[in-house]
Amino acid sequence: MRIAMIGTGYVGLVSGACFSEFGVTVTCVDKDVSKIDRLNRGEIPIYEPGLDKLVENNAKAGRLFFTTDLKAAVAEADAVFIAVGTPSRRGDGHADLSYVYAAAKEIAEALDGHTVVVTKSTVPVGTGREVEKIIRETRPNADFDIVSNPEFLREGSAIGDFMRPDRVVIGARTERAREVMRALYRPLYLIETPIVFTSVETSELIKYAANTFLAAKITFINEIADLCEKLGADVHDVAKGIGLDGRIGKKFLHPGPGYGGSCFPKDTLALVRTAQEAGAPLRIIETVVDINDKRKRAMADKVIAACGGSVAGKTLAILGVTFKPNTDDMRDSPSLDIIPALQQAGASLRAFDPEGMHEAEKLLPGVVWCDTAYETMGGADALVIITEWNQFRALDLKRVKTLLKAPILVDLRNIYEPEMMANAGFQYTCVGRVSLP
Ligand code: NAD
Repeated sequence: MRIAMIGTGYVGLVSGACFSEFGVTVTCVDKDVSKIDRLNRGEIPIYEPGLDKLVENNAKAGRLFFTTDLKAAVAEADAVFIAVGTPSRRGDGHADLSYVYAAAKEIAEALDGHTVVVTKSTVPVGTGREVEKIIRETRPNADFDIVSNPEFLREGSAIGDFMRPDRVVIGARTERAREVMRALYRPLYLIETPIVFTSVETSELIKYAANTFLAAKITFINEIADLCEKLGADVHDVAKGIGLDGRIGKKFLHPGPGYGGSCFPKDTLALVRTAQEAGAPLRIIETVVDINDKRKRAMADKVIAACGGSVAGKTLAILGVTFKPNTDDMRDSPSLDIIPALQQAGASLRAFDPEGMHEAEKLLPGVVWCDTAYETMGGADALVIITEWNQFRALDLKRVKTLLKAPILVDLRNIYEPEMMANAGFQYTCVGRVSLP
């Protein structure tokens, strides 16, 4: 089996490397020449745990290749995966499908022999049909099938998620296409991964329904956390108490500064638009989007309140700016709203992130970037944890206290215990838990 992966980003590179680990010969294609050059030199352009070894092993084994030559890669492939970006379109929140359609046109020109064209990018219902139309119009005699195979991996645990997914969703119209997909995912059949075969349209919708449901779940616990603060209850115990109910489930009940990242913000918006246009508005998701947007500003207010009502002229130490740990992805990170709001309120910021600073520097002007967590704290008026990287979970609290001007810690990820922090002499503020004096 040979495949071409069009788009070598977070999804394309991980999926390509994992398929090659399954024994498939994979050619990863990207338009970004510098990305492909780096990969061919053995450098990994993104931070994703375990990816360097996986790429190195499979490239050495002669199963994984990187090129900018889409034509050659597609011509020899049994299946071509489209894994290009589908960001929010400026102005209306719809998914911007220009990269998908441009890729479809290029693929059409290069097809040679029967090929399954698989959309792995997250795309609105109807996109597969449009991809089919573009290919048909460009090459009326091309022998191809279209498939929708959305990806559910999470950055930071992407390899494990791809290799041992909860399920694989495949939307196909023909048995021939289903056969090719079955062959590609054969190793997952062997570990009894549920494979959901359905129509192309349903498969496209499943991805959005999954992401918007998860965004709603996070938003629900965030609002419960706010209520806990007012009522003196503990949101962690609430999450445990409800999560043990199998109908609710334990996961995604951790409160924080609001969801971010390259998927939930754009996918919630895109589904809202799709639903409005279809005449079946998803009011629950419209509300989720609104609550989450406002939450990020509210987190800046929380920091300001913890600093006695004003941060004007104060210096704040910030730990973590990526949207979650174990990734360098800054797309739609809550820090991109929280940090400018604190700057507008007059604070100077000193920040550290283990992997995100390179990207963050471009997006967050005016921040002083430090080499270590402790370096941010020297002479700062308060410490704020925005992203829960493991290395922030066990800070030397005595050292933190001596470095800070005042022992004020705002923990937007609840990685410390209120009681322990009070005993250590901190004025500790977290999310949805009783903050002890
Ligand atoms: P990304 O921006 O990291 O990567 C996209 C890549 O495609 C870029 O390297 C770009 O240069 C390349 N590209 C664009 N047009 C091309 C073309 N015509 N030919 C060759 N290369 C081209 O994006 P991503 O985060 O990997 O996301 C890709 C898709 O997967 C999106 O639809 C996203 O919603 C979905 N998805 C992402 C995640 C995630 O965690 N990032 C998870 C599941 C699904």
